[in-house]
Amino acid sequence: MKEGTVTMSDTFIHTLLADWDEERSLSREEAVAILDLPKEEMEDLISCAYALRTKYKGKKVSVQLLTNVRSGNCSQNCAYCAQSCESHAPIEKYRRVSDEKLYGDNDLVDEKNLARHCIGLSGIKFTDAEIEDLAERIRIMKKKNTQICCSIGFLTEKQAKMLKEAGLDRINHNLNSSRSFYPEICSTHTYDQRVNNIKMLQGLGFEICSGGIIGMGESKEDVVDMLMDLKAISPESVPINFLLPIPGTRLADRDISGLTPEYCMKVLCLARLMIPKSDIRCAAGREVYFKGIEPELFKVVDSIFASGYLTAGGQGIDDTMKMIRDAGFTGEIESTDE
Ligand code: SF4
Repeated sequence: MKEGTVTMSDTFIHTLLADWDEERSLSREEAVAILDLPKEEMEDLISCAYALRTKYKGKKVSVQLLTNVRSGNCSQNCAYCAQSCESHAPIEKYRRVSDEKLYGDNDLVDEKNLARHCIGLSGIKFTDAEIEDLAERIRIMKKKNTQICCSIGFLTEKQAKMLKEAGLDRINHNLNSSRSFYPEICSTHTYDQRVNNIKMLQGLGFEICSGGIIGMGESKEDVVDMLMDLKAISPESVPINFLLPIPGTRLADRDISGLTPEYCMKVLCLARLMIPKSDIRCAAGREVYFKGIEPELFKVVDSIFASGYLTAGGQGIDDTMKMIRDAGFTGEIESTDE
């Protein structure tokens, strides 16, 4: 089905949305049809997503701050990533960010009442000594009662327990794309390793943040398959990134003309429809693909990043908060004593 054409499926989708029942699971075909909806049905789609958003998340927008604790020199070849072993992107590389920067960012999360401090480490495997080093820093940051989420590669169960005991609340481990498309973007580890890692972490009681990247050359079916797998995982948070091709990476010249604001919005609406109770986060690409339409965006998502996205720049915290208020929403001040 082409966008903008009137077909039997369009009529079906209109009916589906009019009688939306969130307990009903969308079939793969129905979900793909939502990504194909014609422009004139966008209003209905956004209204449906908005009803779920307000039901489960009110009008709050969670804002998180991201600190890149370890940057570059990763052994993995993820095609989109400036930190991968294949990337020639001129990024700053370091083994561990200074304590001044890490604790300073954590203080900022506390002072500005942001929802969460997200810390990211490049790399896929860590020694126990490196994890203990990280655990010690988490213990210090948790004295402020900030909520902390760590984006990190594959942990052993022992290492995951070390971080849990240090007070780490949540771990980010994205699926990134569908199982069938995954080998196109990475050949140094598998999709199933990622899924198994998430299951192990959930078994230890971690909250999970897991999402993906849109615009890497995947089909609409791939997007749906990824969302179906995420629904099965049921993460507390689902970050959806829209590809920002980085010069020096394998996806530097990827055609992103399909990432229209309308298509990006459909992906987020579909995420809300399929996983309504999770935080749906518009992560990387927000300032590019949703520029000027934030009030519409916040009808669907309840979570964004302030500040930078690892190797790509982002919007400052105060500007972000103002934008949320101007759109008629509330910058979330999430309880720090959950
Ligand atoms: S996404 Fe993570 S694992 Fe993949 S190359 Fe980048 S830092 Fe390494």
